[in-house]
Amino acid sequence: MKIVDHIKNAKGKTLFSFELLPPAKGQGIQSIFNTMDELMEFNPPFIDVTYHREDYLYKQHANGLLERVAYRKRPGTVAICAAIMNKYKVDAVPHLICGGFTKEETENALIDLDFLGIDNVLVLRGDARKGDPDFIPTTGGHAYATDLLAQVADMNSGKYLHEDIENSSKTNFCIGVAGYPEKHFEAPNFNTDFKWLKKKVEMGAEFIVTQMFYNIEKYKEFVVKCRENDIHVPIIPGLKPLTTKKQLIALPKIFHLDIPEELSDAVETCKTNADVQKISNEWMVNMCKELIEFGVPVLHFYTMSNPGPTKRIVEKLA
Ligand code: FAD
Repeated sequence: MKIVDHIKNAKGKTLFSFELLPPAKGQGIQSIFNTMDELMEFNPPFIDVTYHREDYLYKQHANGLLERVAYRKRPGTVAICAAIMNKYKVDAVPHLICGGFTKEETENALIDLDFLGIDNVLVLRGDARKGDPDFIPTTGGHAYATDLLAQVADMNSGKYLHEDIENSSKTNFCIGVAGYPEKHFEAPNFNTDFKWLKKKVEMGAEFIVTQMFYNIEKYKEFVVKCRENDIHVPIIPGLKPLTTKKQLIALPKIFHLDIPEELSDAVETCKTNADVQKISNEWMVNMCKELIEFGVPVLHFYTMSNPGPTKRIVEKLA
């Protein structure tokens, strides 16, 4: 079922959904099932599965120098979606990225997703490869989420890459995109980034999932700004429990987000990761309660395939 229909059917009740990462290459799918088993009690209507572009692999020489020798992908997104839908009867939402795919490969991937009965996709540009200074588009692929979105929207209206494909059947994907309450880290300013978000909605995006945030006011201001600018699709807040003290530095650096002083001061005093998780739990539970009161349709958790911290939050809300 489409995410927008799950939200409609919930009639104002807040839903819980979760994002999982494919296991690293060489690990089996059991870790995904273990995570799902932990989270199913919260009746998630959908589960997101991330997609990761290949990373460089390095070989260290005797003189200490590193040589780039190969790429390694984290495969499994589509197969994990199929396995989740099959075993748990829950909708799975694959993340679809620009990086690493030609347009032809994207078309083929979308055909596979359609054949599998997948109704929703989250359309993204994707992160830069580790070791690349910036995002480098794949030759013959897309540079921005808007370009990828245009391709999915084309297939939804029966238009494939080649003119000679006749009587093509239309796909019917419900398209989601990323939104940044504190702006995307590369954008020169908030308004420029916002302009691209609006464009994505005008091009057919039916829901937005936000980047993580810890300052609820930033999310609320973002929603108000969207509504004032004719963006009326559901805006699903993305939430990531803090698990280590190091994240006080890493998350603002990577994601350009603000950790409120009250939270960072409290985390600074922690001696162990368990202490951090206790502080984070209190913060996230309070924030989620306020988000529910604000009327969010779904609380979406970035679990990093570590269900414990998320579970301890949601069980205080469900
Ligand atoms: P875009 O919308 O393409 O925006 C990228 C930058 O370019 C922004 O600064 C924007 O302002 C600007 N811009 C946008 N469109 C245009 C245009 N047409 N012309 C010029 N400038 C433009 N990464 C992964 O690799 N795998 C995942 O599974 C994954 N899942 C994610 C899930 C969520 C909910 C979120 C919020 C992020 C996720 N990411 C993932 C990270 C995401 O890929 C990065 O944040 C990436 O840097 C930007 O993706 P985007 O889709 O927002 O890109």
